[in-house]
Amino acid sequence: MTAEAESVSDLVVIGGGAAGMTAASRARRLRPDWRITVFERGDYVSFILCGLPYYVDDVVASHESLIVYTPEFFEKERRIEVRTGHEVGRIDHERRLLEVRDLRTGRVFTHGYGKLVVALGAEAVRPRLEGIDLGNIFVLRTIEDGRRIKAALQEGGLRHGVVIGAGYVGVEMAEALTEAGLETVLIEATASVLPGIGVEIGELVERELADNGVRLHKEEMAQRLEGGQRVEGVLASGGEYPADIVIVS
Ligand SMILES: Cc1cc2nc3c(=O)[nH]c(=O)nc-3n(C[C@H](O)[C@H](O)[C@H](O)COP(=O)(O)OP(=O)(O)OC[C@H]3O[C@@H](n4cnc5c(N)ncnc54)[C@H](O)[C@@H]3O)c2cc1C
Repeated sequence: MTAEAESVSDLVVIGGGAAGMTAASRARRLRPDWRITVFERGDYVSFILCGLPYYVDDVVASHESLIVYTPEFFEKERRIEVRTGHEVGRIDHERRLLEVRDLRTGRVFTHGYGKLVVALGAEAVRPRLEGIDLGNIFVLRTIEDGRRIKAALQEGGLRHGVVIGAGYVGVEMAEALTEAGLETVLIEATASVLPGIGVEIGELVERELADNGVRLHKEEMAQRLEGGQRVEGVLASGGEYPADIVIVS
Protein backbone atom coordinates (compact mmCIF):
# COMPACT_ATOMS: atom_id res chain seq x y z
CA MET A 1 0.00 0.00 0.00
CA THR A 2 1.65 3.23 -1.07
CA ALA A 3 -1.12 5.81 -1.54
CA GLU A 4 -2.36 8.03 1.26
CA ALA A 5 -5.97 7.51 2.32
CA GLU A 6 -8.57 8.87 -0.07
CA SER A 7 -10.82 9.39 2.93
CA VAL A 8 -10.70 8.70 6.65
CA SER A 9 -13.25 7.55 9.23
CA ASP A 10 -13.01 7.74 12.99
CA LEU A 11 -14.17 4.13 13.10
CA VAL A 12 -14.11 1.53 10.36
CA VAL A 13 -15.82 -1.83 10.78
CA ILE A 14 -14.90 -4.66 8.41
CA GLY A 15 -17.81 -7.09 8.08
CA GLY A 16 -21.51 -6.25 8.17
CA GLY A 17 -22.81 -9.31 10.06
CA ALA A 18 -24.32 -9.32 13.53
CA ALA A 19 -21.02 -8.52 15.23
CA GLY A 20 -19.99 -5.73 12.87
CA MET A 21 -23.31 -3.91 12.74
CA THR A 22 -23.79 -4.21 16.50
CA ALA A 23 -20.34 -2.71 17.06
CA ALA A 24 -21.04 0.11 14.60
CA SER A 25 -24.43 0.87 16.18
CA ARG A 26 -23.02 0.84 19.71
CA ALA A 27 -20.20 3.14 18.65
CA ARG A 28 -22.73 5.55 17.16
CA ARG A 29 -24.58 5.72 20.49
CA LEU A 30 -21.35 6.37 22.38
CA ARG A 31 -19.79 8.74 19.82
CA PRO A 32 -22.49 10.81 18.08
CA ASP A 33 -19.85 12.92 16.30
CA TRP A 34 -17.74 10.13 14.78
CA ARG A 35 -17.66 9.27 11.11
CA ILE A 36 -18.38 5.53 11.08
CA THR A 37 -17.95 3.38 7.97
CA VAL A 38 -18.67 -0.33 7.43
CA PHE A 39 -17.12 -2.30 4.56
CA GLU A 40 -18.98 -5.51 3.69
CA ARG A 41 -17.93 -7.65 0.75
CA GLY A 42 -21.36 -9.26 0.30
CA ASP A 43 -24.59 -7.66 -0.85
CA TYR A 44 -26.28 -7.60 2.54
CA VAL A 45 -25.67 -6.45 6.10
CA SER A 46 -27.54 -7.18 9.33
CA PHE A 47 -28.84 -10.58 8.27
CA ILE A 48 -30.15 -13.58 10.23
CA LEU A 49 -28.15 -16.57 9.05
CA CYS A 50 -30.00 -18.78 11.55
CA GLY A 51 -33.07 -18.54 9.33
CA LEU A 52 -31.29 -19.76 6.19
CA PRO A 53 -32.39 -23.42 6.42
CA TYR A 54 -35.98 -22.20 6.77
CA TYR A 55 -35.58 -20.04 3.71
CA VAL A 56 -34.30 -23.07 1.78
CA ASP A 57 -37.36 -25.14 2.73
CA ASP A 58 -39.82 -22.27 2.14
CA VAL A 59 -40.88 -21.67 5.75
CA VAL A 60 -39.36 -18.23 5.16
CA ALA A 61 -40.65 -17.14 1.77
CA SER A 62 -38.05 -14.59 0.73
CA HIS A 63 -34.38 -14.05 1.53
CA GLU A 64 -35.32 -10.43 2.18
CA SER A 65 -37.13 -11.57 5.34
CA LEU A 66 -33.71 -12.58 6.70
CA ILE A 67 -32.48 -9.01 6.58
CA VAL A 68 -33.12 -7.02 9.74
CA TYR A 69 -31.97 -3.58 8.58
CA THR A 70 -30.87 -2.36 5.17
CA PRO A 71 -27.81 -0.21 4.44
CA GLU A 72 -30.24 2.67 3.81
CA PHE A 73 -31.63 2.28 7.34
CA PHE A 74 -28.14 2.50 8.83
CA GLU A 75 -27.28 5.54 6.71
CA LYS A 76 -30.51 7.40 7.51
CA GLU A 77 -31.28 6.41 11.07
CA ARG A 78 -27.80 5.88 12.49
CA ARG A 79 -25.58 7.91 10.19
CA ILE A 80 -23.41 4.87 9.56
CA GLU A 81 -21.93 4.68 6.07
CA VAL A 82 -22.36 1.17 4.72
CA ARG A 83 -20.40 0.06 1.67
CA THR A 84 -21.63 -3.33 0.51
CA GLY A 85 -19.75 -5.08 -2.28
CA HIS A 86 -16.49 -3.74 -0.83
CA GLU A 87 -13.78 -6.13 0.31
CA VAL A 88 -10.91 -5.12 2.55
CA GLY A 89 -7.80 -6.84 1.23
CA ARG A 90 -5.06 -5.45 3.46
CA ILE A 91 -4.65 -3.65 6.77
CA ASP A 92 -1.65 -1.38 7.33
CA HIS A 93 -1.74 -1.05 11.11
CA GLU A 94 1.17 1.35 11.30
CA ARG A 95 -0.34 3.91 8.96
CA ARG A 96 -3.94 3.03 9.85
CA LEU A 97 -4.84 2.42 6.24
CA LEU A 98 -7.05 -0.16 4.59
CA GLU A 99 -6.82 -1.34 1.01
CA VAL A 100 -10.39 -1.72 -0.22
CA ARG A 101 -11.67 -3.21 -3.48
CA ASP A 102 -15.04 -2.21 -4.90
CA LEU A 103 -16.09 -5.65 -6.13
CA ARG A 104 -18.59 -4.20 -8.60
CA THR A 105 -16.15 -1.94 -10.45
CA GLY A 106 -12.80 -3.50 -9.52
CA ARG A 107 -11.53 -0.12 -8.29
CA VAL A 108 -9.00 -0.37 -5.46
CA PHE A 109 -8.61 2.52 -3.04
CA THR A 110 -7.30 3.28 0.43
CA HIS A 111 -9.36 4.31 3.42
CA GLY A 112 -7.92 5.52 6.71
CA TYR A 113 -9.20 4.76 10.18
CA GLY A 114 -8.83 5.99 13.72
CA LYS A 115 -10.20 2.82 15.31
CA LEU A 116 -10.79 -0.49 13.56
CA VAL A 117 -13.19 -3.35 14.31
CA VAL A 118 -12.50 -6.60 12.44
CA ALA A 119 -15.70 -8.69 12.37
CA LEU A 120 -15.13 -11.12 9.52
CA GLY A 121 -17.15 -14.07 10.85
CA ALA A 122 -16.07 -17.54 9.77
CA GLU A 123 -15.68 -19.48 6.55
CA ALA A 124 -17.46 -22.75 5.84
CA VAL A 125 -15.03 -25.64 5.63
CA ARG A 126 -15.04 -27.56 2.35
CA PRO A 127 -13.18 -30.79 3.10
CA ARG A 128 -10.57 -31.71 0.51
CA LEU A 129 -12.43 -34.74 -0.77
CA GLU A 130 -12.06 -36.02 -4.29
CA GLY A 131 -14.95 -34.60 -6.34
CA ILE A 132 -15.69 -31.72 -3.95
CA ASP A 133 -15.85 -29.24 -6.87
CA LEU A 134 -18.57 -31.09 -8.80
CA GLY A 135 -21.84 -29.25 -9.45
CA ASN A 136 -24.66 -29.27 -6.88
CA ILE A 137 -22.32 -29.55 -3.89
CA PHE A 138 -22.98 -26.68 -1.50
CA VAL A 139 -22.06 -25.23 1.85
CA LEU A 140 -24.49 -22.98 3.73
CA ARG A 141 -22.77 -19.95 5.20
CA THR A 142 -24.18 -16.89 3.46
CA ILE A 143 -27.46 -15.69 2.04
CA GLU A 144 -25.93 -16.20 -1.40
CA ASP A 145 -25.28 -19.88 -0.51
CA GLY A 146 -28.91 -20.22 0.56
CA ARG A 147 -30.13 -18.72 -2.70
CA ARG A 148 -27.93 -21.11 -4.71
CA ILE A 149 -29.28 -24.15 -2.85
CA LYS A 150 -32.86 -22.97 -3.24
CA ALA A 151 -32.35 -22.38 -6.97
CA ALA A 152 -30.95 -25.91 -7.37
CA LEU A 153 -33.98 -27.37 -5.57
CA GLN A 154 -36.38 -25.27 -7.63
CA GLU A 155 -34.81 -26.48 -10.87
CA GLY A 156 -36.52 -29.76 -10.07
CA GLY A 157 -35.60 -33.31 -10.98
CA LEU A 158 -33.65 -33.92 -7.76
CA ARG A 159 -34.50 -37.16 -5.95
CA HIS A 160 -31.64 -37.89 -3.61
CA GLY A 161 -29.92 -35.57 -1.15
CA VAL A 162 -26.90 -36.25 1.05
CA VAL A 163 -25.89 -34.05 3.96
CA ILE A 164 -22.37 -34.52 5.29
CA GLY A 165 -22.10 -33.64 8.97
CA ALA A 166 -24.88 -33.80 11.57
CA GLY A 167 -24.16 -30.61 13.48
CA TYR A 168 -26.91 -27.99 13.82
CA VAL A 169 -26.72 -26.81 10.23
CA GLY A 170 -26.51 -30.38 8.90
CA VAL A 171 -29.57 -31.53 10.84
CA GLU A 172 -31.52 -28.45 9.76
CA MET A 173 -30.54 -29.00 6.14
CA ALA A 174 -31.51 -32.69 6.30
CA GLU A 175 -34.93 -31.46 7.40
CA ALA A 176 -34.99 -28.89 4.57
CA LEU A 177 -34.11 -31.46 1.89
CA THR A 178 -36.72 -33.88 3.22
CA GLU A 179 -39.31 -31.11 3.20
CA ALA A 180 -38.36 -30.47 -0.42
CA GLY A 181 -39.33 -34.08 -1.16
CA LEU A 182 -35.86 -35.59 -1.46
CA GLU A 183 -34.82 -38.96 -0.07
CA THR A 184 -32.19 -37.75 2.35
CA VAL A 185 -29.13 -39.41 3.87
CA LEU A 186 -27.28 -37.73 6.74
CA ILE A 187 -23.70 -38.87 7.29
CA GLU A 188 -22.02 -38.18 10.63
CA ALA A 189 -18.46 -39.10 11.58
CA THR A 190 -19.10 -39.39 15.33
CA ALA A 191 -21.45 -41.67 17.29
CA SER A 192 -24.13 -39.01 17.81
CA VAL A 193 -25.96 -36.20 16.04
CA LEU A 194 -25.31 -32.66 17.31
CA PRO A 195 -21.98 -33.68 18.88
CA GLY A 196 -21.77 -32.47 22.47
CA ILE A 197 -25.51 -32.24 23.03
CA GLY A 198 -25.69 -35.32 25.27
CA VAL A 199 -27.11 -38.80 24.76
CA GLU A 200 -30.68 -38.12 25.88
CA ILE A 201 -31.40 -35.18 23.58
CA GLY A 202 -29.33 -36.74 20.80
CA GLU A 203 -31.62 -39.78 20.87
CA LEU A 204 -34.70 -37.57 20.68
CA VAL A 205 -33.31 -35.79 17.63
CA GLU A 206 -32.36 -39.08 16.00
CA ARG A 207 -35.88 -40.44 16.52
CA GLU A 208 -37.35 -37.28 15.04
CA LEU A 209 -35.06 -37.57 12.02
CA ALA A 210 -36.05 -41.22 11.51
CA ASP A 211 -39.77 -40.39 11.88
CA ASN A 212 -39.35 -37.82 9.14
CA GLY A 213 -37.63 -40.20 6.76
CA VAL A 214 -34.01 -39.04 7.12
CA ARG A 215 -31.61 -41.98 6.91
CA LEU A 216 -28.88 -41.29 9.45
CA HIS A 217 -25.50 -43.01 9.11
CA LYS A 218 -23.34 -42.44 12.18
CA GLU A 219 -19.64 -43.23 12.56
CA GLU A 220 -19.17 -42.94 8.82
CA MET A 221 -16.78 -40.74 6.90
CA ALA A 222 -17.54 -39.34 3.46
CA GLN A 223 -14.58 -40.31 1.29
CA ARG A 224 -15.30 -39.32 -2.27
CA LEU A 225 -17.92 -37.47 -4.29
CA GLU A 226 -18.70 -39.03 -7.63
CA GLY A 227 -20.32 -37.80 -10.82
CA GLY A 228 -19.78 -36.15 -14.20
CA GLN A 229 -20.47 -32.42 -14.30
CA ARG A 230 -22.75 -32.72 -11.30
CA VAL A 231 -22.55 -34.90 -8.25
CA GLU A 232 -24.26 -38.26 -8.59
CA GLY A 233 -23.19 -40.10 -5.47
CA VAL A 234 -21.24 -40.07 -2.23
CA LEU A 235 -18.85 -42.86 -1.35
CA ALA A 236 -18.60 -43.14 2.43
CA SER A 237 -16.80 -45.57 4.72
CA GLY A 238 -20.06 -47.46 5.30
CA GLY A 239 -21.61 -47.45 1.87
CA GLU A 240 -22.36 -45.61 -1.35
CA TYR A 241 -25.32 -43.24 -1.57
CA PRO A 242 -26.95 -41.73 -4.65
CA ALA A 243 -26.94 -37.92 -4.54
CA ASP A 244 -28.35 -35.26 -6.85
CA ILE A 245 -27.41 -32.61 -4.31
CA VAL A 246 -24.90 -32.63 -1.44
CA ILE A 247 -24.72 -30.21 1.47
CA VAL A 248 -21.39 -30.12 3.29
CA SER A 249 -22.03 -28.78 6.76
C1 LIG B 1 -26.98 -21.81 8.40
C2 LIG B 1 -26.64 -21.18 9.72
C3 LIG B 1 -27.49 -21.35 10.81
C4 LIG B 1 -27.18 -20.77 12.04
N1 LIG B 1 -28.04 -20.94 13.07
C5 LIG B 1 -27.77 -20.36 14.26
C6 LIG B 1 -28.67 -20.49 15.37
O1 LIG B 1 -29.71 -21.13 15.25
N2 LIG B 1 -28.33 -19.86 16.53
C7 LIG B 1 -27.19 -19.12 16.67
O2 LIG B 1 -26.93 -18.56 17.73
N3 LIG B 1 -26.32 -18.98 15.63
C8 LIG B 1 -26.59 -19.59 14.45
N4 LIG B 1 -25.70 -19.44 13.41
C9 LIG B 1 -24.44 -18.71 13.63
C10 LIG B 1 -24.60 -17.21 13.49
O3 LIG B 1 -25.24 -16.90 12.27
C11 LIG B 1 -23.20 -16.60 13.53
O4 LIG B 1 -22.68 -16.84 14.82
C12 LIG B 1 -23.22 -15.11 13.25
O5 LIG B 1 -23.63 -14.87 11.93
C13 LIG B 1 -21.83 -14.54 13.45
O6 LIG B 1 -21.88 -13.16 13.17
P1 LIG B 1 -20.58 -12.40 12.73
O7 LIG B 1 -20.96 -10.98 12.52
O8 LIG B 1 -19.47 -12.71 13.67
O9 LIG B 1 -20.13 -13.08 11.34
P2 LIG B 1 -20.89 -13.11 9.94
O10 LIG B 1 -22.36 -13.12 10.10
O11 LIG B 1 -20.27 -14.23 9.18
O12 LIG B 1 -20.46 -11.73 9.28
C14 LIG B 1 -19.14 -11.48 8.85
C15 LIG B 1 -19.22 -10.64 7.60
O13 LIG B 1 -17.90 -10.22 7.25
C16 LIG B 1 -17.82 -10.13 5.85
N5 LIG B 1 -16.42 -10.16 5.46
C17 LIG B 1 -15.54 -11.17 5.65
N6 LIG B 1 -14.33 -10.82 5.17
C18 LIG B 1 -14.44 -9.56 4.68
C19 LIG B 1 -13.53 -8.65 4.06
N7 LIG B 1 -12.24 -8.96 3.87
N8 LIG B 1 -13.99 -7.43 3.67
C20 LIG B 1 -15.30 -7.09 3.87
N9 LIG B 1 -16.20 -7.92 4.45
C21 LIG B 1 -15.78 -9.13 4.86
C22 LIG B 1 -18.60 -11.35 5.37
O14 LIG B 1 -19.04 -11.19 4.04
C23 LIG B 1 -19.75 -11.39 6.38
O15 LIG B 1 -20.90 -10.75 5.88
C24 LIG B 1 -25.99 -20.01 12.18
C25 LIG B 1 -25.13 -19.84 11.07
C26 LIG B 1 -25.45 -20.41 9.86
C27 LIG B 1 -24.51 -20.21 8.68
